[in-house]
Amino acid sequence: MKKNNPTKHPMNESTQEFLKELTLILGQRYVITDEIDQASYLTDWRKKYTGLALAVVLPKSTQQVSDIVKICQKYQISMVPQGGNTSMVGGAVPNQSGQQILISLKLMNRIIELDQANQTMTVEGGCILQVAQEMAQSKGFLFPLSLGSEGSCTLGGNLATNAGGTNVLRYGNAREQCLGLEVVNAQGQVINSLRSLRKDNTGYDLRHLFIGSEGTLGIITQAIFKLFPLPKTQWTALVSLDSIPKAIELLRICQQMGSGLLSGFEMMTRESLSLIELHFKQFKNPMAGDPNLIVLIELSDQESEAHARQIFENILEHALESNTITDAIVAENLTQVNHFWQMRDHITLAQAMEGGNIKHDITLPLSSMTHFITQTDAMLKKEFPGLRVINFGHLGDGNLHYNMSPPIGADFSEFVNNYESRISEIVYAQVDKYKGSISAEHGIGQSKAGVLKAHRGEQAYETMLSIKKALDPHNLMNPDRVVLVG
Ligand SMILES: Cc1cc2nc3c(=O)[nH]c(=O)nc-3n(C[C@H](O)[C@H](O)[C@H](O)COP(=O)(O)OP(=O)(O)OC[C@H]3O[C@@H](n4cnc5c(N)ncnc54)[C@H](O)[C@@H]3O)c2cc1C
Repeated sequence: MKKNNPTKHPMNESTQEFLKELTLILGQRYVITDEIDQASYLTDWRKKYTGLALAVVLPKSTQQVSDIVKICQKYQISMVPQGGNTSMVGGAVPNQSGQQILISLKLMNRIIELDQANQTMTVEGGCILQVAQEMAQSKGFLFPLSLGSEGSCTLGGNLATNAGGTNVLRYGNAREQCLGLEVVNAQGQVINSLRSLRKDNTGYDLRHLFIGSEGTLGIITQAIFKLFPLPKTQWTALVSLDSIPKAIELLRICQQMGSGLLSGFEMMTRESLSLIELHFKQFKNPMAGDPNLIVLIELSDQESEAHARQIFENILEHALESNTITDAIVAENLTQVNHFWQMRDHITLAQAMEGGNIKHDITLPLSSMTHFITQTDAMLKKEFPGLRVINFGHLGDGNLHYNMSPPIGADFSEFVNNYESRISEIVYAQVDKYKGSISAEHGIGQSKAGVLKAHRGEQAYETMLSIKKALDPHNLMNPDRVVLVG
């Protein structure tokens, strides 16, 4: 656990000049130097990392972001961009040197345009995801990106982390939903690729370089997202199953019989459900018989209610008859649909309330999932008796949140300090063995920067380093995140 109480150093003349220049551009109010006022920006969502900042700055326009970056270049001060500060990998808080600034995009939160004919939405980088979803819905469109943190996370942050969430199966992750970007690069220049085109083969696609770069190459100030027709009807059910192989079989059934309508496939293990019940009494497991697994299935349809219902009923009937599932509860109204989804989303919150956990946001080929889970569970439980494996996730994408809670009664901080690296070593070695990825959707941040090279391979890592050095030669953009320079 890297939580600590860092202390600030006195300021020298050059730093004072630096802050003066920032204040001239932004105004006193938007250059926060008071430690108490800074506090909420400096600790991450998991309360695992706390840093210090020379200043927290709040630009209101792309021009101001550009000016800030140029001033940072002049004084060689490094910058940490922050959106909603919901990073799971400590990506959006500064280090403990007290020599960085934090650039919060939270005042750049406007929806600039909703183009109905082109089915696109242009937003500022600090626009909250849920605000974009609601705006799209009010105009009859779907903004499909959807995450448990959608009430706080920002679209700039979503792109910077190439966020996934619960709709990837049908609509892809943030990268696939984005058509254009405006980015302030490490020199403070504005790269305007704000194009809303579905086809654009004009050389290197810079958009894809910045998406997923976690603020290490530039700051996303605006973006254009695709919109989709709002589904006419959605069918949601919770089903119980005995095992992971059955869940994978169910996914195959849903994909084969679902006529492309499958939009959600979320797995929750018994241990995850117990944790939710413990911390959120309103989310009692509704399935009878204490099943090993529950899967939330959702089908969304543009056609008619009858069309979707028929497909949904066929799937459930077949799954029951083939003993793939043991039981099913179909949501009867929107309240129940929301209840099912909230139950799924509350696993992360329940884990936080339990005192934290050791997180592994991994992907695996579905064909290896069962072997991975069976072997890794056994290895971990043998070496760490009593360890609680809280495994849940976007199974439809092969994405597991394969998290560990300490044995009941163990001191969380002590357990993490002593065993986190060994536990992760076991998990990641297994991920490599089965040709998976050590980060499915949360990114690398500072948590995994130290292990990226080992898992991506020498050449891929060196290529990433070359890109970083070429675009940010002074290593001022969110240093020590993703790739480690020098
Ligand atoms: C309860 C909960 C549920 C979650 N569920 C999911 C999930 O299902 N799927 C998923 O993918 N993630 C999930 N997350 C993780 C997190 O919400 C995502 O990573 C999200 O995309 C981060 O957005 P943010 O605005 O909070 O970014 P921040 O946390 O502020 O920043 C994340 C990273 O992006 C950089 N950054 C932020 N804004 C910009 C910008 N404008 N330009 C350049 N760089 C920037 C930061 O420097 C940092 O490296 C969840 C988090 C929580 C707390």
